[in-house]
Amino acid sequence: MPATVELRDVRKSYGASDIIKGVSLTVAPGEFVVFVGPSGCGKSTLLRMIAGLEEITSGEVLFDGNIVNDLDPARRRVGMVFQSYALYPHMTVEQNIGFGLKLAKKPAAELKARVEEALRVLQLTALRHNKPSQLSGGQRQRVAIGRAIVRKPNVFLFDEPLSNLDASLRGQMRMEIGKLHQTLKNTVIYVTHDQVEAMTLADRIVVFEGGYIRQVGTPMELYERPANRFVAGFIGTPTMGFLETVAAHGGVDGLALSLAAGQPPIVTLPVSGPLPSGTPVTLGLRPEHCRISDPDTAALVGTVLMLERLGADTFAFVDLPGTATPLAVRLGAQERGVSPGQRVGFDFDPASAHVFDAEGNSLSSTAC
Ligand code: ADP
Ligand code: MG
Repeated sequence: MPATVELRDVRKSYGASDIIKGVSLTVAPGEFVVFVGPSGCGKSTLLRMIAGLEEITSGEVLFDGNIVNDLDPARRRVGMVFQSYALYPHMTVEQNIGFGLKLAKKPAAELKARVEEALRVLQLTALRHNKPSQLSGGQRQRVAIGRAIVRKPNVFLFDEPLSNLDASLRGQMRMEIGKLHQTLKNTVIYVTHDQVEAMTLADRIVVFEGGYIRQVGTPMELYERPANRFVAGFIGTPTMGFLETVAAHGGVDGLALSLAAGQPPIVTLPVSGPLPSGTPVTLGLRPEHCRISDPDTAALVGTVLMLERLGADTFAFVDLPGTATPLAVRLGAQERGVSPGQRVGFDFDPASAHVFDAEGNSLSSTAC
């Protein structure tokens, strides 16, 4: 049965260093939740606390409403799959998958039935007699998942299971894990620093930074309504561009912004609540909401630094005054003739722009 997993103000410190600084979250039964965040932000530590492999400094972890803080990992009914999956090299695929059940002294008939089921679900039946050395990286990772599946866990915990695989295999395994979840309907908590994995697999994504949750939401909620600049910059490829501006005088119809105090506004955003003139405001612009235009009439003029041709899409990276990093623009079919070094106008759709205050919190009226 898929379990509910609840975290209540969970904290973790190693000596004087606070790693997890108070995390509260409820994962619904059967939900696929992905933890993302930069390396070192505490994702693995939190996952290991849920598994029972790491002591909880304070707070509570609950499975189906019961506090499991002091429950032995083996009794939590979690299946864990790590990045480095140590398979037994001298055992076949089916022996590797069944080994945990054998140790647990499961009856032979049950062991056989569960291993058969795992082989079938993971499409490993034809490879059942192979040793790990006779498998590809993806097949080995499937065996590691098989070892977790046969124990019929209530909760699956994955810690960057695909990061050792090459890009094409990662894409393929990503799809397989997604399909597997549709079949098994377990509760899954999946850690990754790969936002494509997070966006494709998650029912909900939890974005971590520095030991805190920065936002929780569906992939599209995070993409369309990032609560802060960190989430805005973390989700989306190419990444959201940021333009530093200041609130200008006027702007009765919305928020007028200039590149610097005293300069004419470059745009008026349909955002309620005027800000005092001179307030710093960061504009967040997605590549698909930006356009290049005629430099003689545009409010912003910059230089194309480079082009990224991905086949279906071409992105131009435009260097603008007031930007630390060039802004990505998705080019329309007729604009793909631009070349690096070219002077271009830069326009964007004001209604789609995100607005952040000096602390990086979203001021956009659509933000949650
Ligand atoms: P992530 O999985 O997000 O990359 P981790 O959870 O592995 O991050 O680590 C979070 C932080 O905790 C890191 O700064 C790491 O150095 C620290 N850390 C992890 N384990 C220990 C430990 N046993 N003792 C001290 N510090 C640790
Ligand atoms: Mg980790």
